[in-house]
Amino acid sequence: MAPPSMPRLIIASHNKGKIREFTEILGHHWEISPQGDHGVPEVAETGATFVENALIKARHACRATGCAALADDSGLVVPTLGGDPGLRSARYSGNGDQANNALLLENMAPLSGADRSAFYIAVLVILQHADDPTPLIAEGRWSGSIATAPRGDGGFGYDPLFIPDGESRHAAELTAEEKNLISHRGKALMGLIKLAQA
Ligand code: IMP
Repeated sequence: MAPPSMPRLIIASHNKGKIREFTEILGHHWEISPQGDHGVPEVAETGATFVENALIKARHACRATGCAALADDSGLVVPTLGGDPGLRSARYSGNGDQANNALLLENMAPLSGADRSAFYIAVLVILQHADDPTPLIAEGRWSGSIATAPRGDGGFGYDPLFIPDGESRHAAELTAEEKNLISHRGKALMGLIKLAQA
């Protein structure tokens, strides 16, 4: 439990895994409080970029609670597919993670070599209040390539298909600790802490 003198930071997410991760890493600096505890509903992600969507979510949580808020937006980008699954990563197939992976494999079937390059991206934003004109914004990227068949049962989303650069294992075969050290989200979190301490 954080000392009462710490500023409160609302986490603009209902995802329990993310809330746990943010609390573990940022709990030394802020009193972390999930937006669900304040009755904040989901907001439509109408932005055209990851950073716009993160700002929309953070601003919505600030406005609803009157507190500072942290939001994130992330996804998988395949440049050869014009950036898909991109902003639609979670709902690429409309039928959940397994169907998303199957659709990605299908769309990439004609591609080989460097054309199978991809990266994960995570953007984290902290707004002090809804009209804060100086958001803290940190971005992390994790480069790799898309395999031709899934492997591993760790992680989530596209991890069974994602082979990080310099690794022979797929992301779903890494431990959570290994992934957090090198992943897009881990890098963005470290960047955000540096910004917040500056
Ligand atoms: P969101 O940021 O929670 O909206 O996540 C968007 C989507 O991007 C997820 O549902 C996954 O499909 C994908 N994604 C983001 N980060 C990861 C990751 O670390 N592993 C696998 N998939 C991810």
